[in-house]
Amino acid sequence: MNILTIDDSATMRMLIKKTLQPDGYTILEADNGQSGLNVAAADKIDLFFVDVNMPVMDGLECVSRLKKDAQYANTPIVFLTTVTDTEKKQMGQSLGVNGWIQKPFNPDQLRKLTKMLLGI
Ligand SMILES: [Mg+2]
Repeated sequence: MNILTIDDSATMRMLIKKTLQPDGYTILEADNGQSGLNVAAADKIDLFFVDVNMPVMDGLECVSRLKKDAQYANTPIVFLTTVTDTEKKQMGQSLGVNGWIQKPFNPDQLRKLTKMLLGI
């Protein structure tokens, strides 16, 4: 199972990788929405974690493009948000994201959500 973490924070990407890699997932990384779309075009992604605020292309634009892509229209997407992202959280919901994780995240919650969305 391939998980793609799209976040401009290298620390956040590292924390997610550290949390989920021991469960046997392959974690791919991108530092903005555009490079995330490039990775998704090159590899088959089973689950996306997408940060909201990023340079070049933000999370909302990235998710709206993934949802329009036939290959990924039904692939689970989780937003990585901060407390102040309330409005963007709602926008994400209307785009059809499957949930969100508030930063800083709880590792057990992240693992549970991942298992639930991937069905394993
Ligand atoms: Mg960010």
